Amino acid sequence: MLTSDSTLRSAAPAPGDAVDLPVEASVVLAGGTLVEVHPPRMGVADVLVRGETIVQVGGQMPEGLPRVDVGGCILTPAFTVAHTHLYMSLTCGMPPPPSTPRTLTDVLQWVWWALDKALDDDLVHTSALVGAAMAAKAGAACIVDLHSSPRAIDGSLDRIESALDEIGLRGVLSYETSDRDGRGRRDGGLSENRRFLEKVRAGKTRHRAMVGAHAMMTLNDDTLDAVRELADAHSVGIHMHVAEDLTDHLDAERIRKAPLAQRLERVGIARKGSVVAHVVQLETELAEAMMQAGAYLVTNPRSNMSHGVGLCGISGNRLALGTDGGDHDVLADARAYHLRHAEARDGLARETGARLAAGQELAAQLFGDPTPPRIVAGARADLAVLDYAPMTPMTPSNVIDHLARGWTSGHVRDTMVGGRFVLRDRKLANIDERELVLRGRAAAGRLWERMQGYT
Ligand SMILES: [Zn+2]
Repeated sequence: MLTSDSTLRSAAPAPGDAVDLPVEASVVLAGGTLVEVHPPRMGVADVLVRGETIVQVGGQMPEGLPRVDVGGCILTPAFTVAHTHLYMSLTCGMPPPPSTPRTLTDVLQWVWWALDKALDDDLVHTSALVGAAMAAKAGAACIVDLHSSPRAIDGSLDRIESALDEIGLRGVLSYETSDRDGRGRRDGGLSENRRFLEKVRAGKTRHRAMVGAHAMMTLNDDTLDAVRELADAHSVGIHMHVAEDLTDHLDAERIRKAPLAQRLERVGIARKGSVVAHVVQLETELAEAMMQAGAYLVTNPRSNMSHGVGLCGISGNRLALGTDGGDHDVLADARAYHLRHAEARDGLARETGARLAAGQELAAQLFGDPTPPRIVAGARADLAVLDYAPMTPMTPSNVIDHLARGWTSGHVRDTMVGGRFVLRDRKLANIDERELVLRGRAAAGRLWERMQGYT
């Protein structure tokens, strides 16, 4: 049990705190400071994990179980990266484009579309492996990924699935359908989405899927229809970029001869389980209607800064944080969110905890978890341990300030996904990290060389 009191204290068990489940592998996470950031709640208590589930919080723990000391550390629900691109994981240090991009379209054409064209099967797998490792080391349990590899489409989502399994994370996968590379590759993208959705439906993967699409500006009208039909057929959401800058609006009005709102209606993105990234230039009314319909919007502050597209000023309980590629470090985006909105003086900086929690709720919804993503009996045991010992008091009333100005991924000591450690004492539990580093560097060198052919 957590307390919302202003001081830390041992939490007493309450009737109904424990959940009786079949005995599987059990572990007691002992002595941690339990923290939930939205609504802010804190307390010191032991946590009993059995199988994939938290079964007891506080009170007398059963004798003779393995114990992991998390005393002096924060124990918090693990993070969700609500929008990212694992295929961009090998880009840190990449040579810059030949000249400075002036627009988002320049960045897309000179950088990201050169990158995705250079991916082959092995690079898809290695970039996902490196990205999943980065995310695990940053406290994430779940990644909502939008993938693109126009010259290696078939089976690409299986390669990402395999990488996630090798690291131990959960994923919600989709392929970025687009008309930008011609009809054949558009059809290939739709087929890859369909194939993986069928795999999910058949119960042949532990991951989940959505129908992926790039952005309204690269989707013809008949493709909007095809995306919608596929989402309808599988009763899933649509994962795509919307209004990252004004290009979607200009494209809609000048080329498609229909307002963006009408095209969004046509693709049917306002539905439960959709993930709509960026929405920097989306009218508040449209954004709120999407959230009302059950879609999640995802803001990506560091990406928006680096692409020079501005700041998303929307608020709401279904607005989550993503990284849009890069390092998949959602705490870094939480800090950027806080700073950017503080600078804008729009009052949203104080909602940083709500943004983080929205991603966790999105993951719980997509995986059909019966219990909300909190530290309570019955919840999925997706947990992050942060070795964070602040020099100033941390209480429920100021924990958002600690989240935004204190916590970093460098504090993440352990990450647990479904009751299993994927990161333990800062080391990846399921893979030889040294070998992964060497493999990542070699793959990045090969990728950067191949990209020269597409810029
Ligand atoms: Zn993106």
